[in-house]
Amino acid sequence: MAEMFVGGEFIRTGRERFPVVNPATEEVLDTVPLAGPEEVDLAVRSAYQAFQSWSAVPAARRGDLLLRAAHHVHDHLEELARTLTLEQGKPLREARLEIRRFVETLVHYAGLGRNLRGGYVPNLDEGAYGLVLKRPMGVVAAIVPWNFPTTLLGNKLGPALVAGNTVVAKPAETTPLTTLRIAQLLHEAGLPAGVFNVVTGTGPEAGEALVRHPLVRKVAFTGSTQVGKRIMALAAEGVKRVTLELGGSDPMIVCDDADLDAAASAASVGRFFNCGQACVAVKRLYVFESVAEPFVEKLLAKVRRLRVGPGLEEGVHMGPLHTQRQRERIEEQVQDALDRGARLLAGGRRPEDPRLQKGFFYEPTVLLDPDPQSRVAQEEVFGPVLPVWRVADLEEAIQRANSSPYGLGSSIWTRSLERASVAAERLEAGYTWVNSVNRIYDELPFGGTKQSGFGKEHGLEALDYYMETKSVVVRALGG
Ligand code: NAD
Repeated sequence: MAEMFVGGEFIRTGRERFPVVNPATEEVLDTVPLAGPEEVDLAVRSAYQAFQSWSAVPAARRGDLLLRAAHHVHDHLEELARTLTLEQGKPLREARLEIRRFVETLVHYAGLGRNLRGGYVPNLDEGAYGLVLKRPMGVVAAIVPWNFPTTLLGNKLGPALVAGNTVVAKPAETTPLTTLRIAQLLHEAGLPAGVFNVVTGTGPEAGEALVRHPLVRKVAFTGSTQVGKRIMALAAEGVKRVTLELGGSDPMIVCDDADLDAAASAASVGRFFNCGQACVAVKRLYVFESVAEPFVEKLLAKVRRLRVGPGLEEGVHMGPLHTQRQRERIEEQVQDALDRGARLLAGGRRPEDPRLQKGFFYEPTVLLDPDPQSRVAQEEVFGPVLPVWRVADLEEAIQRANSSPYGLGSSIWTRSLERASVAAERLEAGYTWVNSVNRIYDELPFGGTKQSGFGKEHGLEALDYYMETKSVVVRALGG
């Protein structure tokens, strides 16, 4: 039975337990306790106590420890990837990639330990100069969803820890196992007790207790826009810092001068990776009418080759949806699009394969020209459904791309530098890829605009979201 990780050890509680289910078989893998305010308080106090010494460790040494911890996680890549596939559902190949990304992000921030910098301003006044200090904040709450439980944790853990903060994480109730094992591995590698703690439980109970806790100084949240709004309101009561990485509905624009083969491949990978359950994913595709027919043909050829099945099986491209509820939501959104006149080009149903009757499987689905008022156009579609619209030109594509309340990622496929520049300038999003999709780099800041949230992860910029800036004026006394 899995337990919460607090103060460098797994702790036992008498709390009610929650089953962790394998989405490919519907079997219970393990159970975890549902933390209440007392367990959250214990974890936050442990992190607060550890903060007193961790923040005083030289930053270079914190980086060195993080690097050692990253290597230790990498040594357990295969075991972690299997656990991730079992609890989340994704193909093993994608799970390995996810653990590798977690390690890379930790390595990236470990290196920055030697590069934390403040500022110096000479001659403020006669005999006076100024310093700009960058200081850790204290205890950071990291609240993470189930779609990428480890990379989204790494995005917070890397900058938070190297900057000298301590962390209490709350994974999604359905994907706690990989996170708990990672906490144990980081501690084994030398991370002091209390620097990284994990509480398990539901959002409304454990999550809210964490956000409300008076010793939590910053909340780094990734999840839905709806919950992000709630967290922002709760954090406001304590005037806490927040970073909100929320939902998205990324547009992809395919122009008439695009490399259609490359664009079709990217659309297929970009939409069906992780069974479509990704924040940055091709969620709305706008193709120029003049090339729509050959493009859609190429796209469908790619989609037909996708093999759906359990993530642990060799050669599987797409695992199940994460939960039964998640599949029902997708089915409702597709039905709504069909009722409003969309043409179904692929999928739109559960697989008929008798081996896939258990588990939350759904076929990769392509819809043509759904009504702009339909749910697949208006809402985030968090599953393997790609709506394609034909548009007259770039102006129409950009206008429709920007008509969403979200602003996370976006892409354009063209050989024209002018079109690419116009799109990069005008698409309302935190990221625009030109002739590429969805690749997130540790070197570049990542984060949304509009209702996709605010604050940055990755890049040098992320560090600023985990540090306080303080000014000091020094006047040399004469004599
Ligand atoms: P969710 O908002 O339901 O849950 C996310 C996390 O918040 C979970 O750990 C959950 O237990 C917790 N939570 C729920 N209610 C809470 C509350 N009242 N107080 C505190 N914590 C609470 O999201 P989800 O459905 O698990 O994840 C999918 C969403 O996440 C999608 O909208 C997706 O686009 C978004 N997402 C965004 C990014 C990004 O970087 N922008 C990345 C991945 C996923």
